[in-house]
Amino acid sequence: VTGASRGLGRAIANIVLTCEKDSKVVAIARSADKLKELEAEFGSERVAIVTGDICDSDVAKNVVSTAVQKFGKLDSIVFNAGVLDPIKPLEFADIPAWKNLFDVNFFSIVGLLSEAIPELRKSKGNAIFVSSSASVFPYDAWAAYGCSKAALNRLALSLADEEKEIGALAVDPGVVKTGMQVNIRENLGQHMKEEALQQFKDLHENDQLLPPEVPGSVYACLLYTSPSPRDSTSS
Ligand code: NAP
Repeated sequence: VTGASRGLGRAIANIVLTCEKDSKVVAIARSADKLKELEAEFGSERVAIVTGDICDSDVAKNVVSTAVQKFGKLDSIVFNAGVLDPIKPLEFADIPAWKNLFDVNFFSIVGLLSEAIPELRKSKGNAIFVSSSASVFPYDAWAAYGCSKAALNRLALSLADEEKEIGALAVDPGVVKTGMQVNIRENLGQHMKEEALQQFKDLHENDQLLPPEVPGSVYACLLYTSPSPRDSTSS
């Protein structure tokens, strides 16, 4: 599970480890303290942590080798780690910031996926991609993020097309009560049109954000599902 230190990724890891007593998780993020909490809660026999930036190719190699060396195989991956910044109108597009976002939300996933494919082939496992409604719906000033998630959907299609033994699904979690939403309301949303930002504030004020455990349980179930027939799905 990438981005397992908090938010949706942490919920997915918790659910997998709680609901499947034999399950084992490789948890990846930069926040070592949070990953160590997870390891302490479920034990180092069931949780392996890989601390580092997901954009670092050594981290991707380490993730796959840790799964294989410590747990014997790699069954499935949830590509969950992601960032939303930059939120800015296209007129003020900051290309280095776009590139940074694409490194995290897209190229890191291509890199980790290519490392993982030989192992996922052996286990006939699943690659689950955490997408967003922004991949198909134009939220104000979210072009960079939306484009990266649209590319992610397309990546899932290519994986499904190329690798018939690997399940590939890109799934939108809905609007989830995590740090990302706090960041929209308190920081990143300043460059959105007022009424567009207000929609997110209203969801929070009306208690309509999904607890991470709600989509988290769906992703956790998908890890154990064998999509059949194994063709492309993006929703
Ligand atoms: P979050 O609370 O901000 O958590 C993001 C996670 O990604 C953290 O664990 C973070 O860990 C990790 N991460 C970010 N950059 C990283 C990097 N360079 N290297 C390694 N790990 C990195 O966000 P969230 O809401 O849980 O988002 C999870 C996924 O859901 C994202 O892909 C997001 O786009 C998607 N999503 C969220 C919502 C929503 O409403 N929240 C809606 C649609 C889609 P560290 O900081 O510890 O590295």
